[in-house]
Parts: sequence; structure tokens; C-alpha cells
Amino acid sequence: MKAGDTLYGICDKLDVTFKELKKMNPKITENSVIHIGDKFVTQQAVPLLTVRTVEVSTFAEKVKYKTVYKKSSSYYQGEQVVQRSGSNGKAKITARLVKENGKTVSRKDLNKEIIKEPISKIVLKGTKKVPPKKGTGQLQRPVAVGVYRGYGPRWGRWHYGLDYAAPTGTAIRAADGGTVISAGWSGAYGLRIMIDHGGNIKTLYAHCSAIYVSAGQQVYKGQTIAAVGSTGRSTGPHCHFEVFKNGSNVNPANYV
Ligand SMILES: [Zn+2]
Repeated sequence: MKAGDTLYGICDKLDVTFKELKKMNPKITENSVIHIGDKFVTQQAVPLLTVRTVEVSTFAEKVKYKTVYKKSSSYYQGEQVVQRSGSNGKAKITARLVKENGKTVSRKDLNKEIIKEPISKIVLKGTKKVPPKKGTGQLQRPVAVGVYRGYGPRWGRWHYGLDYAAPTGTAIRAADGGTVISAGWSGAYGLRIMIDHGGNIKTLYAHCSAIYVSAGQQVYKGQTIAAVGSTGRSTGPHCHFEVFKNGSNVNPANYV
């Protein structure tokens, strides 16, 4: 420090910010009293020598799996279904590594041996033409499995729907085209969807783990609208399905 120097004056002169100066001199603050003859570190130390090494090294490395898309007429246009999940492989690499101060700066692979082949992920892309987004008057079952529990008395109460037991995540499809009336949480039903198909027919899908549509949306018959789950009052993953005619529950088994 010379007479007349200030901390900010020094910053200006050295072309560093106060923050940078402080980083190199942690003890100073903006209010530090400085004296003639005080010394500051104004530059960080850097190694004087760069040690460059060249070595041939063998090591294992991950081989990322590929994703393959296949067309499928089993699914509607816009639908994508993972048919097989992928898994990474492993390779034994022999490479020439150039290092500077222990850090690799360039690498040239001399040999690559696949120890474990990666398994490609297969995604099916639907090609089936999407039906009109309105009721056809004919319902289909919402989940592609048999009925697990029917309509009628159960445990002293009336069971107003059909239960389709299937693993969590299984597609729930609209029984017919129509307009989504509601989609969201509904107490004991958990995540629930209701659809108006016109002709005074409505359907209800409950205990979903996920919902893919929202109120007011038009859907087509067979569209994936939700995923099977066990939300609300439920003892295991299943889709509880109800049918209403003129506002009253009817046995869905007479419709699907
Ligand atoms: Zn049920």
C-alpha cells in the first residue's frame, strides 16, 4: 500500500472486483482500515510446471442402450407403449490417455470389447385410426381383463360397479366416446373420472393411480384416460367401473 491508496482504488488499479480481491485475501472487509505498507495477495498461485503423462490404460465403461420405435396397429395414433425397457451394457476399453497434472486432456481408444451387450428399449407407436370423439351407443370394458368382482350386494352394502383387478399402471380406456364431466379426487373413489356418452348414458372409473384427461375434454371410445391404481377406499389395485342410465346406477355387466 502507498499513501492515498484505498481498497477500491486498488481494485481499479489491478482490474479486479472487490469480491475477487476478498477471495484472495479472506481477512479484508469493505470496512477494513488499511495502512501504508500493508500487503495484499493479488494473484492466485498456479503450478509453475505442467506435468504431462501418456499412458495406456484398460477400464470398464457403460454402453448406453438404444431406443427403437416400432409401428403397431394394436394402438391408436398418438399412443406410445413401452414394450420392453432397455438396459445398459458394459465394455472393456483400452485407451491411450494424455494427462496434464493428473487430469485427462485427451483420449484415444485403441480397443473396445463388449463384455455385456446393451438391450434396446422398444417403444410401440400406434397407427390405428382414432375413432370420432363421441358416443357410439355401444360400451366396451375399460380394462382388458376379466371381472374380479361383480355388481350387487357385498358385505351388507350394495356394490354399484364392476371391479377389474390389474397391476398399477394398467391402461383404463373410455368405455365409449363422449365428454369428460369430471376428473379428479373424489373421497372414497380416490382419483375418479366420469364421462357423458350422450343418450343418457354415463360411466365412472375409480381408484386410478393417474388421470390423463380433464373435465370438458372430448374422448374417443378406447382412448387411454387413466391408469389402474388403489387410491381412495381400496384394498388393492383395481378399476371400479360404474354405468348410469338416466342418472341411476345400472349393472354394467349388461352393457359391456
Ligand atoms: Zn368396486
